[in-house]
Amino acid sequence: MIRTLTGVMFGAAVAAATLATGTGVASAAEEVNIYSLRQPFLIEPLLKAFTEKTGIKTNVVFAKEGVVERMKAEGANSPADVILTVDIGRLNDAVEAGVIQPVKSKTLEANIPASFRDPEGRWFALTQRARLIYTSKERVKPGEITSYEDLADPKWKDRICTRSGKHDYNVALLAAMIAHHGEAKAEEWLKGLKSNLATKPKGGDRDQVKAVKQGECDVAIGNSYYYGAMLSNPEQKPWADAVDLVFPTIGGTKGTHVNVSGVALTRSAPNRDNGVKLIEFLSSDQAQEIYAEANNEYPVNPTVKWSPMLESWGRFTPDDTQLTAIAELRSAAVKMVDRVGYDG
Ligand code: FE
Repeated sequence: MIRTLTGVMFGAAVAAATLATGTGVASAAEEVNIYSLRQPFLIEPLLKAFTEKTGIKTNVVFAKEGVVERMKAEGANSPADVILTVDIGRLNDAVEAGVIQPVKSKTLEANIPASFRDPEGRWFALTQRARLIYTSKERVKPGEITSYEDLADPKWKDRICTRSGKHDYNVALLAAMIAHHGEAKAEEWLKGLKSNLATKPKGGDRDQVKAVKQGECDVAIGNSYYYGAMLSNPEQKPWADAVDLVFPTIGGTKGTHVNVSGVALTRSAPNRDNGVKLIEFLSSDQAQEIYAEANNEYPVNPTVKWSPMLESWGRFTPDDTQLTAIAELRSAAVKMVDRVGYDG
């Protein structure tokens, strides 16, 4: 599903810009073209701030999926300069499809810690999202569950709800478990977790928290920002109010599994310099604060202040497993989910 933000057809706007360049006339309007798998409510305030700061116009195509396929089909003629997406897996897919180009930038190197960017500059993480355990305030005591490993303990039989094991978020978590424990132990863990499920995996992360509220289960797995989203939604607030947040540890470390959202410069980028400017802007304090305010995501830029909402959930230690290692273990994780019949 692709739709344009402005009334102007995206392709037409790009064609006009190409024409202006083709006649040797300097392009009247500086612009940058974005393919975004991230939602309008989050991206629009960021792009507005970027345009206010730089005068560069933004054209954005919002999509739910298929961006890499679209870019492959468009090839060298793709109008996209920048892609915005969630999940290390999808960033990695874009790299492997050959549709992006590396960026070398002192600004990006200063703003984004090395563990949150590709060593070759082919992708940059912009926000962190922690994968949390949500526990029933009524039926689970604080401290009863502290690690992802605990989820496989038979004491939780028929008490846990999760979304599909094949969703990117759970695939990355399982990949992190494989990184810490090796395949055999991770598979044992996944079997244990499956046997503790109260129902077949279905719905999204928030549906699992709703199920806790409704008494269908006592423990759920979900990303951190959904807690903020539920608190600010009158229908969903009772779900959030019914649970405590646990920042689980992994592999006997102090770390909690985190995934990222991120950005990459396309190989075809007709407005390369503006694309780089946009990526640099998204790593700035101003943009990182917008991510935290609009969607309760953690900044990757360590100098950025956390929003009061994020602070109220408490500080935590992110697992330091390299994101590239998690990306590499994703296919092993997906196969494991099938072997275990997790969704069945
Ligand atoms: Fe999400």
